Amino acid sequence: MISTIGAGTLLPSQVFSDVGLLSMKAIAIRTGQQRQKGPGKFHSITTVACDKCDAQYVISHKRKLRASPTIAAAQAEELKMLLAEDHQPKARREHPDLVEFD
Ligand SMILES: [Zn+2]
Repeated sequence: MISTIGAGTLLPSQVFSDVGLLSMKAIAIRTGQQRQKGPGKFHSITTVACDKCDAQYVISHKRKLRASPTIAAAQAEELKMLLAEDHQPKARREHPDLVEFD
């Protein structure tokens, strides 16, 4: 994605500081809780439901790209695995209110 915004013209020092702007910042917010709210500028792309309980999350991207649905689908799979881990007997964690994707 970075290459499509002309990152090749950036000096190395600029690349570092611009990575935050150019990267695909994405979060998942658990629905039905008030502790965490999605930042206003994020775009809701898809929802994910836990297979084992009624927890639901909305995956949001900071920038809406043509690839956003594809990226969100992969993140949904990643999130489902995280949620399944929370239900493992040895983990027994509460699901988080907010998940940040790399
Ligand atoms: Zn669950």
